[in-house]
This record gives sequence, structure tokens and C-alpha cells, in this order.
Amino acid sequence: MKFIWDTIFVNGSKFVETVGSVKKWNKKKGFLFLLTKNLFVLLFVLKMTSALKFIIIHASELVCVTGNGERYLKGSQMDKLKIIKDGGMAVGEDGKIKDVGKSEYIIKKYEKEKKEIIDLKMKKAIIPGLVDSHTHSIFAGDRINEFEMKIKGATYMEIHKKGGGIGYTVECIRKEKEEILLKELIKYLNRMLKQGTILTEIKSGYGLNLLNEIKMLKIIEKANEIHNIEIIGYLKNIYFIDVFHEKGIFEFKETLQILQCGKKYGFYINFHGDELHYNSSAELASIINATAVSHLEFISNYGISLLSKYLIAAILLPTTAHFLRIHYPPARLLISNDVILALGSDFNPNSFCLSMPFVMNLSCVSMKLTFNEALAASTINSAYALRQSHLFGSLEIHKYASFIIIDHHDWRHIIYQLVDPPIHSVFQKGICVWTKFHPTLLPDHDDHLHRSQLFAEPPLPPSKL
Ligand SMILES: [Zn+2]
Repeated sequence: MKFIWDTIFVNGSKFVETVGSVKKWNKKKGFLFLLTKNLFVLLFVLKMTSALKFIIIHASELVCVTGNGERYLKGSQMDKLKIIKDGGMAVGEDGKIKDVGKSEYIIKKYEKEKKEIIDLKMKKAIIPGLVDSHTHSIFAGDRINEFEMKIKGATYMEIHKKGGGIGYTVECIRKEKEEILLKELIKYLNRMLKQGTILTEIKSGYGLNLLNEIKMLKIIEKANEIHNIEIIGYLKNIYFIDVFHEKGIFEFKETLQILQCGKKYGFYINFHGDELHYNSSAELASIINATAVSHLEFISNYGISLLSKYLIAAILLPTTAHFLRIHYPPARLLISNDVILALGSDFNPNSFCLSMPFVMNLSCVSMKLTFNEALAASTINSAYALRQSHLFGSLEIHKYASFIIIDHHDWRHIIYQLVDPPIHSVFQKGICVWTKFHPTLLPDHDDHLHRSQLFAEPPLPPSKL
């Protein structure tokens, strides 16, 4: 017999998942124990899921993205987002969305519960928190000199052959102390949160030996405990195996071998493919049943049809083309062929950008995405690429109340206003984790407090909204 405590709210911030199992039990006593315990759990869960925490009303635009539990959007769906004018949401104590609809409906249904009301007065819009599905956020040493070499005309592979590129970052990360790496990572996560990212993938991979790979994963795990951004990719939360499938790095056969081995151990597959050359990466992805392939600047038409057929997400990283001055991935062709298109920042010392609003802007300007498509690719589809779209990526009942309040009545200003997007505040699982009125809310990397201690008091500033 098995019972599950699912997502129980502790200290107003951290969700704990506990799976308990009752294997041996005396029949009579065991039955009573089980009945009482399960009743307690049931009542507790019911209480937690039914309790209202606050309602947020009069959002000029409540951009839900999806409205029918879709796990991804493709083709023409990407340009038709669910947007409620004068929208509102009811958020539960469990950090999840209890209700979504017109403000009038939300007010009528929940006004008697006398909970906190956040009134946006039709001056601000809401979008889901952004999901960055591809980063290498933990690294040491910058590559500013290489950037200058590239500006002067050197290519990525020329720098790589001279011992620069990834080789240099590997050298730096092996030498660096864990506490310094953690301190740097927290600083980067703070900057990502300010730009609206609430869920991100972070890879190890610069260690390139067991000791250093584990060192990296442990640091990412520690960061996940400290920080409010949800991280995919730490030691107990590794879902994906990745390989840099590239000419002169890992060729087709080696890549296939490594990915097959990862698959044997239960990892999902998301690897770097068709980035600097065409390498049949999408074809490989279909053979190995990958969840996603990243980059795809040089994908073939046949590869596009395979990604579409097998619902393999294409994670496009326009910052790479921007920094390396190579051509952009064929985003429009991917969309017109019904490929699930996601976006990521590819934050790493080679393309130093951690801002998803900038990535959306770049994808509109340089890859010709529409605003709606860029947002779908940075929310629901990015969450799909990380296998998290049942919890994140859209504003729907039973999903996490992880959203951004935009300091403008038109949500598109988050893409339009470059460099300093008008983000008023960021909510993670029903808690305001950053607002421009409390910039000091972000965790200080010097005191390693658990995030529940940092955010025990939800710092909602309704008077200032
Ligand atoms: Zn990458």
C-alpha cells in the first residue's frame, strides 16, 4: 500500500515531496493506523489545496498562454495565445492557481474569503514566469578576450584549436574553489530572476572528469536550495544527458554511444546538435527518441520533418548566432512544419546573456518570430522541453502561480523595451520573490540561508502596486 504526500507547503516557500510506503503492518492496528493517517493526510491536503492565499485582479491583460491544459503549442497555435482582458487569478496557500478568469468573476467568487487583494487597476499586465531551457550558468573565468578575437574575425573553432573556448573554461572550473563557484552562480541566478526567469536548466559539463562533474552538480544543488529559481540539473534532479555533437568534438557514433548509455540509466535526452555544421543531429535525435535538441542552426529539411513527427522540441538559442555571427536557426521553417519550438539563453562564457526578454527580442528581430510565438517558446514550450509543462509555463488551474507583473498595460513591452524590460515583480509559487520596490530581496550569496528562511514573510507591497 502506498500513499503520497504531494507538494506540501512548508514555511510558505519550499515544497517538499515525500513518498511514504507502508509495507508490513499488523492487520487490525495497521488498518486503523492507515485509516487515521490517510484521513489526516487527506484533510491536510484538502485544507492546504482549498485555502485561498490572495486574489490578483484587474490585470489589463492576463496572458495565460494556454487554456486547455496543452503541454505545448506548435504551428499556428503558437501565435494564438489565451489572453484575458481585465483578468484575475485566485492563488492558493499551496502556491498553485485555484482559479483564472475575468476580474468580475474572480471578485464575485472569492470576495467573501477576505484575503489579500492585489489590484492592478488595469495598469499592469501579467505573463507566466519565463523558462530558460538551456544554460551553462556555472563556470569560472570569462572569455572576454576571445569575444574580442571573434569581433576581429576569428571563428569559434579557430579559438578552440588554440586551447581557448571550452578547454579554457574547463581549466578554470577545475582550479576554482566550490564556494567561489557557488557565489558566482547565485549572483547570476539573481540577475536571471530580475529578468523574469523562474525555471531554468543548468548543466554540468565543464568538469570533464568525474570529480569535477560531481563538484559542479553539488554546487547547482546547493544553489537550488538557496535560490527561488527552480533548477533542473542538480545531483538529485538530473533528468537530462547532453553531448556536444559537433565535427571534431563528439562525432555521430560517439554521440550515439554516450546518449544510449544515458538512456539506459533513465535520462531524458537533450543534446547540442547541428550547431556549427550539419551533423544529422535531428536524425540522431529521432533514432534515440530524444526529448529535445538544442541549437539546430544547420538542421536539414528531413531533420525538421523528424522533429515534427516525434514531438521532439527544438530549443533555439539565438544568442549563439548573435555572438558568433553565424546564421540563425530556421525558426520560421520549424514553426511552419509544426515543430515544438522553445527558446533558451545558452548563458555561458561564450555567449554571455542570461536575459530571456532579450532572447525573445532577438528571436523576433532576427528569426522573425511574432511576439506571441516568442512568448509561447519561452514559457509553455520551454517547460515542455524540460518535461515541466504540467507545472509551469502557463497560467492555468493547478499549475504553479509563477508569474511576472509587467509595469505596463501592454504585455508586449517586455519584448519591446530592450535591456531594461519593465518588470514590476516576479512571483514564484504564489510568493513575491522579487519586486522593484524591494530590490534587496534577493539572497545574499554570503549567507547560505535556506530560501524558506529568506522568504518566510511574503513581501507583497499591495499599497505600492
Ligand atoms: Zn549550450
